[in-house]
Amino acid sequence: MRSLCMGEILEDLIFPFPYLSNEKKETVRSLVNSLEAWLKDQGDNFRKWDVAGGFPSEFIEQMRQFGLFSLVVPEEFGGLGLGSAAYSRVMQCLATFDASLAVTAGAHSSIGMRGLLLFGNDDQRKRYLPNLASGKMIAAFCLTEAGAGSDASGIKTKAVKSGSDWILNGEKIWITNGGIADFFTVFARTETQAGQMSAFIVTKEMPGVSIGPHEDKMGIRASSTTTVSFENVKVPAVNLLGEEGKGFKVAMNILNVGRTGLGGGSIGGMKRAIELATKHANQRQQFGRPIAEFGLVKQKIGHMVVECYATEAAVGMVAGLVDNGVKDYAVEAAISKVFASECVFRAFDEALQIAGGAGFMREYPYERALRDCRINRIFEGANEILRLFIALTAIQDVGSSLKEVASTLGTVLSDPIKGFGVLTQYAGRRVTHATGIGVATMTKVHPLLKPQAEIFEECSRSLAATTDRLLRKHGKNIIGKQFATRRLADIMIDLFVLATTISRVTSSIESQGQSGAAKEIEIAQVFAGQVQRRVRSNFSKIDQNDDELIKSLADHALTREKFSWDTI
Ligand SMILES: Cc1cc2nc3c(=O)[nH]c(=O)nc-3n(C[C@H](O)[C@H](O)[C@H](O)COP(=O)(O)OP(=O)(O)OC[C@H]3O[C@@H](n4cnc5c(N)ncnc54)[C@H](O)[C@@H]3O)c2cc1C
Repeated sequence: MRSLCMGEILEDLIFPFPYLSNEKKETVRSLVNSLEAWLKDQGDNFRKWDVAGGFPSEFIEQMRQFGLFSLVVPEEFGGLGLGSAAYSRVMQCLATFDASLAVTAGAHSSIGMRGLLLFGNDDQRKRYLPNLASGKMIAAFCLTEAGAGSDASGIKTKAVKSGSDWILNGEKIWITNGGIADFFTVFARTETQAGQMSAFIVTKEMPGVSIGPHEDKMGIRASSTTTVSFENVKVPAVNLLGEEGKGFKVAMNILNVGRTGLGGGSIGGMKRAIELATKHANQRQQFGRPIAEFGLVKQKIGHMVVECYATEAAVGMVAGLVDNGVKDYAVEAAISKVFASECVFRAFDEALQIAGGAGFMREYPYERALRDCRINRIFEGANEILRLFIALTAIQDVGSSLKEVASTLGTVLSDPIKGFGVLTQYAGRRVTHATGIGVATMTKVHPLLKPQAEIFEECSRSLAATTDRLLRKHGKNIIGKQFATRRLADIMIDLFVLATTISRVTSSIESQGQSGAAKEIEIAQVFAGQVQRRVRSNFSKIDQNDDELIKSLADHALTREKFSWDTI
């Protein structure tokens, strides 16, 4: 995405679509088959545990026996050693049955012990990974505090060095797996300045660690969510995770890698929504016909199919980037999280609508699914924060290049050769944006998808030109221009997901031929059309919009803390 903002398309990163090797596919398939057999046997249990608000300990024990805590632990430590794509596929399977189950397994593997995998030293890995693989230890990720949610750098939990130990004091809230975990990745301030935090491995048996009561939640009710408090907890110096003072980097890296787990869960949810909605639409008769025959019902189902395919392409692509060792995927991972979490919510909302009144009844699975998937837009980075992150990170190269241009203009006389190079490059880019001459194209796309590739190229060119224009207009003040930043982020989200969809469909055409991939080609046609309309609309609002009026109305309500009008 950073390159795209500069007008370049890094095709080699997204073509061919990253499928698992046949051998890995076989491993995942047999794991998923055995999980499905076990989970189908649970019957109505998940609904009961949602009402009760927790899993019984026997079920957690079964999760251990099925190896659900071993998924991402390397084989040498007794785990399954799944890569990102395989792990994401397993999360998809779990979420198809129950979101609380997926969140419990995911909080352990995606974030709870991910810091140990990414930053742990040999001694730490040897000490904890075998127990984390067997599920003897369940992991939790402890960052959020009452005063520090989205602004994680504002945490107050403190770790003070005392001899060879750290003394930890503070309280974390809303910690997934809090009530069942024994291994906590805890973030605490180790310096006086905000943001200077470090990460620590804390275990439950350390004196001073206490767990609060189970939270009564809207959704994912059976998953454990509690406070985790630390009162003068003596943490040995060897439990420092990563470098002292680099805890923020540890936290952000954990969350980046973890996003394919949440993405996989969202895909599982969408596939279930499609199954429920299609079955219901075929069975339910109104006006003497199955409701499946009505256009407005078909419209919902068609959109669900397109968004599920596109989400799977985006999440699969990010997992492929991670598995292939690409380092710079934070923006794309954030894009996949935002897109997946919004599509799964829309899918269940529409499935519930297709079910009509039945959808509202607790007896049916829709209302629980809708409650369950709502959290995806909030945790592991609220979508608003991620949109800001996506746009502001992706435009950094354009910002640096403009800075270089500005400083070159000042020094062009003293270093004309360097100055000439920088300015020529920049002028060339501007001409390309404006005229389309020398523009980057998608050359690896299948010829049948040429029109969709052209949509991508046209929108990408506008993205590069708009990024340049916005940065010249606002400079570093772009950080405070959230309406504009959001539009850029939405354009980037659409473009990345479109690129991954085109790549996926290209691979399908190549392996199955035009007729085998006919429906996927239709998906690409629909999605590209949607992207083109949304992106054009977002571009048109960059200069002409109601932003100031909307802010003024918000300020009006915020000042009075109420709606000001009435009709009587
Ligand atoms: C069920 C559940 C499980 C959780 N599990 C964990 C866990 O395991 N570990 C953990 O550490 N945390 C966990 N969390 C916490 C979760 O990560 C936070 O709730 C999330 O990061 C948002 O923080 P907040 O709730 O304080 O919202 P706030 O930060 O107060 O945000 C409120 C709203 O304001 C918006 N907002 C905030 N700042 C800005 C800004 N600068 N610009 C624009 N909009 C802004 C947000 O997007 C959001 O819509 C969990 C939360 C829940 C509900």
